[in-house]
Amino acid sequence: MGNSISGRTIVCGIIGDPIEHTMSPAMHNAAFAKLGLDYVYVPFRVKAEDLGQAVAGMRALSIRGLNVTIPHKVAAMPLLDELDPLAQKIGAVNTVVNDGGMLRGYNTDAYGFLQALLAKAEPEGKKVVLVGAGGAARAIAFVLAERGAQLVILNRPQEMDWAVALAKRVGEAFRKNAEALELHRENLAKVLFDAAILVNATSVGMSPGVNETPVPADLLRDGLVVFDIVYNPLKTRLLREAEAADATTVSGIDMLVWQGALAFEKWTGQKAPVDAMKEAAVKALFGH
Ligand code: NAP
Repeated sequence: MGNSISGRTIVCGIIGDPIEHTMSPAMHNAAFAKLGLDYVYVPFRVKAEDLGQAVAGMRALSIRGLNVTIPHKVAAMPLLDELDPLAQKIGAVNTVVNDGGMLRGYNTDAYGFLQALLAKAEPEGKKVVLVGAGGAARAIAFVLAERGAQLVILNRPQEMDWAVALAKRVGEAFRKNAEALELHRENLAKVLFDAAILVNATSVGMSPGVNETPVPADLLRDGLVVFDIVYNPLKTRLLREAEAADATTVSGIDMLVWQGALAFEKWTGQKAPVDAMKEAAVKALFGH
């Protein structure tokens, strides 16, 4: 790490449990070094029962910014002074900014996803097929609805309650109908036929299950934008098969980097060096 610590160094970090596998310190410290900022980013393992003390500690120690990860994304919300309206709708925060003791919570997972998508496609007014209804899918569903996409959410038949509840909450929040369907081939074929964008927000295809895919290859086609939020491996089976079908692809690494970049910009007021952050994240993940 190129940063040298002084009495003026500004501290940021991440709270979660476990925390050992996070790429965020590598990404943010590379960004601080690249811009020559006197900041440092450190991991803090915080147990669920200690979250209140950790947030009070953020104020007491004048920690400028924190990322918040599992298991604290929901529980941190009532401990903050202000919430970004979208974070409030989603019901989860992943970024906190400390302005002189006033703590504001944001969900940069959601905007990181949108930013990564916008490099390849505009979802406004388009039909977007979202596979999965877990934590990441929830943030993605709300930001897509806010942007004016027409959403179809698919989830495993045995866990349909999640998809139905998510579609209902998104519909109520944005006064726009979102559809929930069971995840199987017939429904995928039906909804992908005239969709513009497909998002995999499940963990299917993630290492070590790299030979799995949530969507059969023959349903992918030219003109479809396929966004897989899984980032390990960088090119999942879904993305490889999408490329082979001449679809446009977006990798989960871009969402990961953009959620970090947007947090960085809130803490420092500087434009994030996105390429340096991506390089550091890939190196932290794969060692090269
Ligand atoms: P989560 O809350 O546990 O949700 C997992 C989702 O995957 C659920 O919808 C679950 O469906 C579904 N799923 C799991 N196994 C499945 C299978 N065999 N078939 C169909 N669906 C299956 O996890 P999460 O936090 O949302 O994370 C999901 C993935 O996104 C992970 O791989 C994670 O690494 C990645 N992620 C990436 C970023 C990024 O920045 N790129 C950010 C966050 C997460 P059920 O409801 O039926 O169980």
